[in-house]
Amino acid sequence: MEEKILIFGHKNPDTDTICSSMVKQILCEKEGNTNVKAVRLGNVNKETQYALDYLQIEAPELIEKVEEGQKVILIDHNEFNQSADGIENAKIIEVVDHHRICNFQTTEPLYYTARPFGCTATILYQEFVAKGIEIEKKEAVLMASAIISDTLLLKSPTTTKYDEKALGELGRIAGIDINKYGLEMLKAGTDLDDFSEKELINLDAKKFESKGVKCVIAQVNTVSIPDVLKRKEKLEEEMKNAISENGTDLFVLAITDILNSNSQIIALGNRVDIIEKTCKLEDNMALLEGVVSRKKQLLPMVENNI
Ligand code: MG
Ligand code: MG
Ligand code: MG
Repeated sequence: MEEKILIFGHKNPDTDTICSSMVKQILCEKEGNTNVKAVRLGNVNKETQYALDYLQIEAPELIEKVEEGQKVILIDHNEFNQSADGIENAKIIEVVDHHRICNFQTTEPLYYTARPFGCTATILYQEFVAKGIEIEKKEAVLMASAIISDTLLLKSPTTTKYDEKALGELGRIAGIDINKYGLEMLKAGTDLDDFSEKELINLDAKKFESKGVKCVIAQVNTVSIPDVLKRKEKLEEEMKNAISENGTDLFVLAITDILNSNSQIIALGNRVDIIEKTCKLEDNMALLEGVVSRKKQLLPMVENNI
């Protein structure tokens, strides 16, 4: 049998990355392409697990790297430094993503669907509709979960009218109360007790490099910022370890209050001056009111000041 096309999202997978990879597999299969397989590049977080448990389904298989010439479909990312090891030598046949396009190139033509929506699942939802393919409960729950996660129940500034429309429709198909299900799912993701400080700073971390400055912006969701700050000393210790191991210039950890839509940031590294162009750090920290989005708020705040 021909080798399967692998479908995966970014490293440190979030709910959109996992669920949209699974939905893309379902969509391909419903179109008659069964030679596809969703996989993942890291551990499933508790928020995503809540959605999988709700559906009583297993997470995709974990892979570490891709072989040369492997056919792949990238979901929810395109930057190679957020992708599988070996991606430079894989054969990317399709991308479905809602991020900026950066450090991306292929040697052959490909399908590329980019939309500046709040979530990859919203793009997939539109694909189902455009192609007249029926959306069943399973994929409806997966897509709804992804949209709830990426848009923080439509409260993030990344939310578009397309996400709102998709989530409304998907909630109806799935037969779930979006607000009740969504809050429970988001809260499941804020249970941080089982994680070490080292795990916490890697749970949802993304690397960026701009003008030679190496940055990491990590994010943890919580319902109580003071609760997370009880671990500040150890979190900072792990951030410092990561900085010296990877030669990072700026490491920002955003502790995001999903109920009140604020983020407390901790910033460390030899380039904290980049952050201080926007806000004053006290004890390495600042409270950013109304900031919940890495993509639309934190990343531009860093990049524009490098
Ligand atoms: Mg993502
Ligand atoms: Mg996403
Ligand atoms: Mg996210």
